[in-house]
Amino acid sequence: MQDKKNRFETIAVHAGVKPCPSTGAIMTPIYATSTYVQVSPGKHQGYDYSRTHNPTRTALETSLAALEGGKYALALSSGCTGTDVLMHLLEVGDHVVSVDDVYGGTSRLFRTIWSKHGIETTFADLTHRPLTDFVTPKTKIVWIETPTNPLLKIIDIEKVVAAAKKLPQKPIVVVDNTFASPYFQSPLELGADVVLHSTTKYINGHSDVVGGALITNDKNLLERLHHIQNSIGGVPGPFDAFLVLRGIKTLALRMQRHGENAHELAKFLEKHPLVEKVLYPGLESHPQHAVAKKQMKGFGGMITFFVKGNLENARKFLESVRVFALAESLGGVESLVDHPAIMTHASIPAETRKSLGITDNLIRLSVGIEALEDLKEDLDNALKCSQ
Ligand SMILES: *Cc1c(COP(=O)(O)O)cnc(C)c1O
Repeated sequence: MQDKKNRFETIAVHAGVKPCPSTGAIMTPIYATSTYVQVSPGKHQGYDYSRTHNPTRTALETSLAALEGGKYALALSSGCTGTDVLMHLLEVGDHVVSVDDVYGGTSRLFRTIWSKHGIETTFADLTHRPLTDFVTPKTKIVWIETPTNPLLKIIDIEKVVAAAKKLPQKPIVVVDNTFASPYFQSPLELGADVVLHSTTKYINGHSDVVGGALITNDKNLLERLHHIQNSIGGVPGPFDAFLVLRGIKTLALRMQRHGENAHELAKFLEKHPLVEKVLYPGLESHPQHAVAKKQMKGFGGMITFFVKGNLENARKFLESVRVFALAESLGGVESLVDHPAIMTHASIPAETRKSLGITDNLIRLSVGIEALEDLKEDLDNALKCSQ
């Protein structure tokens, strides 16, 4: 499996997983151990303590790197740990440029934690203005998330990478690839230095794990990131690593279905009389549809739409869904619906939410893999109840 470059579906099933040499077990065991016996001081088989390395985690890391077409990966305790580990690369006085509609938890880390440690972040609309409008000589990280959450804006990764590479301080370009998943988008191939994932979402895909990952082709950077992770902790346990590995096996099948269902529902909602507007990168009406077509292999499973009316109408809609579950998070096999202003994006100051366009009638869907007709009927019924 390792010698030849396989296709995505094959990588998802096989990468990182080797039959156990002593038993032949085809599945990677859950190595529930904190420490490892050494034959002589410092002489061991590559594992000495499970904060540093663990065999189940190693298998997951090999798989994650292969999925992104990268050389190295770190599996972490959550997506936010991945962000935190990256931010530890910086020093007091350094600066970050981030997309404005960044994941709420990422924004919270930048605004309420790292700003206290002397690192400022500028939140930039990179869909309309060039990176150079926002950089300072101290900009060390450029943070792209695309599609963004919840507005599903698409940032041209190649364009931002090209602008970043011209800067004398050579900032690290990070792409949060959580929404697209490696099935639909490969940021390393587009020149990004690091890919971040909340594996909690599509990669695990079953809403039963919180986890994160960083993937890169740069050995030196990987070593610096691993040093930080090993110093501060933030590792996933072996059982979580096992679950994510298990989820990855069906990643291609799941993403294909998520994408098909979401595209059909987006078209359905766009024509619905009780819907004001739909945002889905696969619709021709999406403002960055052309960029999405250029850099993505498909448009993903997330839809954002505006129900006709106000908060009351949104509330009635949200209380009337029966197949979609009203819950935070996304990327699982089951369909979820979220009200960003009250739920996932409540930590973003109201003024900022308003200026971004996260209004009270905005609803975010994480479209699952259920039967399309059931999902359609559910949305149609809840929309009727919304007025
Ligand atoms: C959920 C999410 C994160 C944070 O990941 P956790 O696993 O919840 O810590 C980061 N980025 C995006 C786009 C997310 O959806």
